[in-house]
Amino acid sequence: MPTPRLEIDFGKIAHNAKTLKDLYGSKGIDVIGVTKVVCGDPAIADVLLKSGITILADSRISNIKKMRDSGIDAQFLLLRTPFLSQAEVVVKYADISLNSELTVIQKLSHSAVEHQTTHQIILMVELGDLREGLMPKDLDNTIQQVLKLEGIELVGLGTNLACFGGVKPNEGKMEILSSIVRNVEKKFGLILEFVSGGNSANYNWFMSTKNVGRINNLRLGESIYLGCETLHREPIPGLFTDAFTLVAEVIESKIKPSLPYGEVGQDAFGNIPEFQDHGPIRRTILGIGLQDISISGLTPRLDIDILGASSDHIIMDTKKIELKVGDELKFNLNYGALLAATTSPYVIKKQVNG
Ligand SMILES: *Cc1c(COP(=O)(O)O)cnc(C)c1O
Repeated sequence: MPTPRLEIDFGKIAHNAKTLKDLYGSKGIDVIGVTKVVCGDPAIADVLLKSGITILADSRISNIKKMRDSGIDAQFLLLRTPFLSQAEVVVKYADISLNSELTVIQKLSHSAVEHQTTHQIILMVELGDLREGLMPKDLDNTIQQVLKLEGIELVGLGTNLACFGGVKPNEGKMEILSSIVRNVEKKFGLILEFVSGGNSANYNWFMSTKNVGRINNLRLGESIYLGCETLHREPIPGLFTDAFTLVAEVIESKIKPSLPYGEVGQDAFGNIPEFQDHGPIRRTILGIGLQDISISGLTPRLDIDILGASSDHIIMDTKKIELKVGDELKFNLNYGALLAATTSPYVIKKQVNG
């Protein structure tokens, strides 16, 4: 079989999605399935829908378009704040979008009216992670403006934590969001359908909280695909952590010194590498490199060390394990490696256990 390839176990993804939907559902929280790390793959989107998820979310409108064009029948949420230049396609392909800029919402309104449709928005509230979101003090004023706009329906408030600043979505942060929601609902006489408290990092809060407050929604990617929460990257009990496997092929395998010899200058990426001498080792080269994958996010399933990589090669010390040319080697991937692998046109995607 051709390599490098990413083997995707559809059965394991389905199991994870169902398990998480039931778990969060037990306290009244609905799960939106996030497809960005799989580039909006319609076949995986279909697995999520068959597991009981009804809303799919992606950060890119091109991925949402791809899923729609492939006949995926779901509600679609655009995760990344729409670009001003995208208003028209956003209204066309996404049912809902997450927003934090009034100018953008005004343009969405304009496009929605032009196309005689209604676009739903969730306003994002900044709670300290410092990526997207309105500062809480600006919320009332923005909502006042939004409620005047034709073609726009405010359906919820949301927040995103643990992405840029690493700020934990803990009890305190979730209580703040709930209390903001209560105030907004009271002040404007609204009932917000979505109170979207975060992402895969919300697992620990969810497990420990006695009261989820007004939070009724989470947007989950990583925990569905990799089976872990994302504050400590601990596996979530009952989930598969190996739904994705990267398979690469040995293209050279020899006993060679551990220390490069000769006069040393820069390597392929402008660094001056440093090595220690461990004597001769089993040096094995794989036919995959930095153009395909993020090396730091790979964990070999065998007891071997990754020494480094260049554009097209990974160099390993296979220690006690003897590998020969043509052998295949399997790796677990973290989120970054998975993102790179799904995005790379050089990595073949192969469905297993459908
Ligand atoms: C990517 C993303 C998510 C999903 O995050 P995971 O950690 O993969 O669960 C949720 N919300 C927003 C706004 C995102 O960009």
